[in-house]
Amino acid sequence: MSPFNPVSESDLAYFRSLLPGRVFSGADISTDYDHDEMTEYGHFLPEAVLQAQTAEEIQAVLKYCNERRIPVTPRGAGTGLCGGCVALHGGIVLSTEKMKKVLEVDTRNMTATVEPGVLLMEFPKALEGTGLFYPPDPGEKTATMGGNAMTNAGGMRAVRYGVTRDYILGMEVALADGSLITLGGKTVKTSSGYSLIDLMIGSEGTLGFLTKLTVKLVPEPKVNLSLLMPFDDLDQCISAVPPVLACGCDPTAVEFMEREVISCAETYLGKQFPDTSADAYLLVRLDGPSAEALQPAIDTLTDLALSLGAKDVLLADTDERKESIWNARGAFLEAIKNSTSTMDECDVVVPRDLIPAFVRQTVETGRRAGVRIRSFGHAGDGNLHIYVCRDGLPEGEWKQKVSAVMEELYEAARGMGGQVSGEHGIGHAKKPFLRESVGDRQMALMQGIKAAFDPNGILNPGKIVG
Ligand SMILES: Cc1cc2nc3c(=O)[nH]c(=O)nc-3n(C[C@H](O)[C@H](O)[C@H](O)COP(=O)(O)OP(=O)(O)OC[C@H]3O[C@@H](n4cnc5c(N)ncnc54)[C@H](O)[C@@H]3O)c2cc1C
Repeated sequence: MSPFNPVSESDLAYFRSLLPGRVFSGADISTDYDHDEMTEYGHFLPEAVLQAQTAEEIQAVLKYCNERRIPVTPRGAGTGLCGGCVALHGGIVLSTEKMKKVLEVDTRNMTATVEPGVLLMEFPKALEGTGLFYPPDPGEKTATMGGNAMTNAGGMRAVRYGVTRDYILGMEVALADGSLITLGGKTVKTSSGYSLIDLMIGSEGTLGFLTKLTVKLVPEPKVNLSLLMPFDDLDQCISAVPPVLACGCDPTAVEFMEREVISCAETYLGKQFPDTSADAYLLVRLDGPSAEALQPAIDTLTDLALSLGAKDVLLADTDERKESIWNARGAFLEAIKNSTSTMDECDVVVPRDLIPAFVRQTVETGRRAGVRIRSFGHAGDGNLHIYVCRDGLPEGEWKQKVSAVMEELYEAARGMGGQVSGEHGIGHAKKPFLRESVGDRQMALMQGIKAAFDPNGILNPGKIVG
């Protein structure tokens, strides 16, 4: 029997009194809310969608739902890739799409405070003219900053700058019982008891509802440029990653890409990639105070890449050239999705020196299973995005093959000391692999933490540990 209650007419009436014009139920709910970007993981229409505008509204909704045992699924922009923001057990989806204010940019403390629904692509406008920037750079710019915080999103610039977690200084969070807590603030360090803020980051809406976020900003680098290194084969290309990272040039991003994936992006975007000479490419971005200051790093990386088998090193220092390369890179996921009927994703992270071994494993697994696998990824931080494409496979055969492939890939990652998810999270789709990876003892600890924050289990049930 479900531990939860359905949403009744009187519940809806209460929600409508609280959030007039921002409560949707039945046929008025857009099907956009029944999935995230991975439709392969199913469609789950909530019983109601509520669009909050203030922390007080969120507190009131949570208090009410907690007392009546109604599940609450927090949702940002729904760009997640593991089914994190879907209402697996019905109840309400509580959306932050109307909480889009940048509340403060504090240039003296180099911080900004935002509402959770601010989109990643909108935030830079608020920083214009300050000389400051926010380094986290996940590929999907229509994601919310709240969603980024709650999945600990990574992205391209993580090699040099780190991930979202490294930029979160403070959070205001509504707990399941409706109380509001403030974690951290504008201070840049703390040694003050258990780090609840670190527990909250990446908790995918299972421990609390983020209502306000304070992030760290850093001085904006004046110049950036990219080096595109074509290699004859993928193995040679990926094997160049550890020496590139160790050569002292402090790259901002190190991405790898294969010809087949680039071709998908060319078709998807209708634009030509600037080079067609190779099967595999390493893309390295450098940030610095001036082009002159970056010249020694360009020279070092060029010599190194050529000595490691690169056919050439192409410098992208004009906006046009940079855009044509990075736009293609940014479109990979959508382009692969567009090239097949459906697909499943594996977002493991392995120690960086084992990337070549893991990529080899991927190729071998796909070949043996007889499925098309496409991969690309943040080679510089060991995080690979691997897509198993269904193409024309019948349902039964697809289910059986994709499950065998996933088992094999996660097992291989585990054997290499890797983790289930580098940045996309666990949601409900990756739960079995998390358990296999961390084991019963750690799962029990996580369940204990969940119970301490949310004793009735109303917050995003069915995710991570639920
Ligand atoms: C093309 C593409 C490229 C991508 N590239 C990257 C990438 O490079 N790096 C990366 O890390 N991810 C990437 N992603 C995945 C996705 O964009 C991130 O996971 C992102 O952080 C999700 O943000 P969102 O606002 O869409 O959150 P949603 O998908 O709406 O929610 C994600 C999770 O956070 C929870 N949540 C959202 N808001 C709140 C809140 N206010 N309080 C509590 N919980 C909340 C939800 O319940 C859910 O569990 C990509 C996705 C796509 C489609």
